[in-house]
Amino acid sequence: MKEIYLDNAATTAVLPEVADAMRPYYTEIYGNPSTLYSIGQKAKRALEESRNEVASAIEAEPKEIYFTSGGTESNNLAIKGFAYANSKQGKHLVTSVIEHHAVLNVFHELEKQGFEVTYLPVDQYGLVELETVRKAIRHDTILISIMLANNEIGTIQPLKEIAALAGKRGIAVHSDAVQAVGKIPVSVKEIGVDLLSLTAHKIYGPKGTGALFKRDGVKLAPLFEGGHQEKILRPGTENIPGVVGLATALRFATNELDTEAANLSTLRDRLENGIISRIDHVTINGHLQHRVPNITSLNFAFLEGEALLLALDTKGIAVSTASACSSGSDEPSHVLTAIGLDPVTARGTLRFSLGINNTSEEIEYVIDVIAEAVEQIRQFSPMR
Ligand SMILES: *Cc1c(COP(=O)(O)O)cnc(C)c1O
Repeated sequence: MKEIYLDNAATTAVLPEVADAMRPYYTEIYGNPSTLYSIGQKAKRALEESRNEVASAIEAEPKEIYFTSGGTESNNLAIKGFAYANSKQGKHLVTSVIEHHAVLNVFHELEKQGFEVTYLPVDQYGLVELETVRKAIRHDTILISIMLANNEIGTIQPLKEIAALAGKRGIAVHSDAVQAVGKIPVSVKEIGVDLLSLTAHKIYGPKGTGALFKRDGVKLAPLFEGGHQEKILRPGTENIPGVVGLATALRFATNELDTEAANLSTLRDRLENGIISRIDHVTINGHLQHRVPNITSLNFAFLEGEALLLALDTKGIAVSTASACSSGSDEPSHVLTAIGLDPVTARGTLRFSLGINNTSEEIEYVIDVIAEAVEQIRQFSPMR
């Protein structure tokens, strides 16, 4: 059976070029970059060259890049690290209700520790309105954290405008850009953020490696005590193969961005149009313009998304109900309820996230399979 992977927002296959670039750092150049002999210094050079590449991909300075274990750690370090280091200036923080759990749960924890958090609502398309940001800002607000692209519906936030608003009031801005990097141009200079998280495994790099951009001068408290690595902000022996993998994946993503974005949006549009023309009562969640090219969230009335997911799995097609992190829980997606779907309707949603390995033949096959599966499931649906 053909395997068709349409869950690239959950994770991606590692590109062969990326795996090749990483391999020597496991078996040959395995030295500890903190050592003074050649094999350690070679590893150190790879670390710093990777830092240069990551910096240039997002228009940052190399000294503003800190390597971490991924998006979750970068978000924790940015948000907790900023809150702890700057709490004398105020204890009020702002975020949105549709953030990834790697942001939301950080804020929940900070609330337990005495910080106050405002969770901004979004409109029916999943967009944060500038006016709600303006209204949420208080004299003691120190940080605003808004994701650049949403992982369930793909909506892109007006981050540049939010950062401009915050900047005027001396408030720092963090963005979880995990789903945006490699899909749309991301320049920290252009957007004007102070902190930005990214991860390798959503852009054809290895799992367990990410980076945090920290604008020079922004104060963060480290979350771990340890050695002097990453200017003591992130102690621990550096994951050189991972870092090389991240830099290689990011270089590929940046070089190929325009071509890939055009390919992905063509495939996505065909998938949407094919499904909508063949099946009644299907709607698209999110914003039709302000969105990344690879994600579409489709709502199928009168069925459970999980039933459709399992039916597709029997045909070798991998898709997701909401985000990978919410599957297995009984709660409807917090993103879908935030854009106004009632819990029952929300359950009829599937997320398709395309990747560079998908082909138009695959998409045609998927459309056929879905049309058939939806008809079958609806026939026996008590929700009808
Ligand atoms: C995947 C994801 C994360 C978590 O990144 P990890 O590298 O898996 O820790 C954070 N935020 C968003 C938006 C994501 O999609």
